[in-house]
Amino acid sequence: MRTTVKAATLVAALFLSSLNLNAMKFELTPLPYALDALAPKMGKQTLELHHGKHLQTYVNNLNNLIPGTPYENMSLEDIIKQSEGPVFNNAAQVWNHNVFFQQFSAKPQAAPTGALLEAISKSFGSFDAFKDQYTKACTALFGSGWVWLVKNADGTLGLESYSNAGNPLKKNLTALLGCDVWEHAYYLDYQNRRADYIAAFWQLVDWKVVEGRLK
Ligand code: MN
Repeated sequence: MRTTVKAATLVAALFLSSLNLNAMKFELTPLPYALDALAPKMGKQTLELHHGKHLQTYVNNLNNLIPGTPYENMSLEDIIKQSEGPVFNNAAQVWNHNVFFQQFSAKPQAAPTGALLEAISKSFGSFDAFKDQYTKACTALFGSGWVWLVKNADGTLGLESYSNAGNPLKKNLTALLGCDVWEHAYYLDYQNRRADYIAAFWQLVDWKVVEGRLK
């Protein structure tokens, strides 16, 4: 009798975990800081909505789109490289937002040092010149999209601007720093003032995290 109960429990547990695996292929990556840690530069309500609602929706959409397709068992990176349309849009937005949210800190290293500073200076002239070019790219990007600091195949650094879910993985570039210029990223804190959001963005970037992506 006890063996039967144990076996039934095991079967039920396996069944539930297989259901769970299918339903939860991709999950929301938690923020590495408290929701109010970046306020007032990036407010609690912005993070609640941007991370808890917008990013969660991209995760849910992706999990709903891929069952029964060739993407079902692929890594997020492979899905991004191989897909188009709604699957690409949602997969890329999951990846983009993970890069974005993980690069901030309440007490960031305020400027790059070491190998990162060297690479930035070599490719842009100086850190200030890089910041200026990146800021201009963020301001100039029409509508929704992303601006990226990337490492090219030859080791030089460059800037890439893309509309919507645009993503440097598609071109096999290494993403070092991403700025989300969709209005949902800043409207609650800065309304239409994208330039004010970019100014705050620079005060939140943790250059230690960015340097870690250089490798
Ligand atoms: Mn966003």
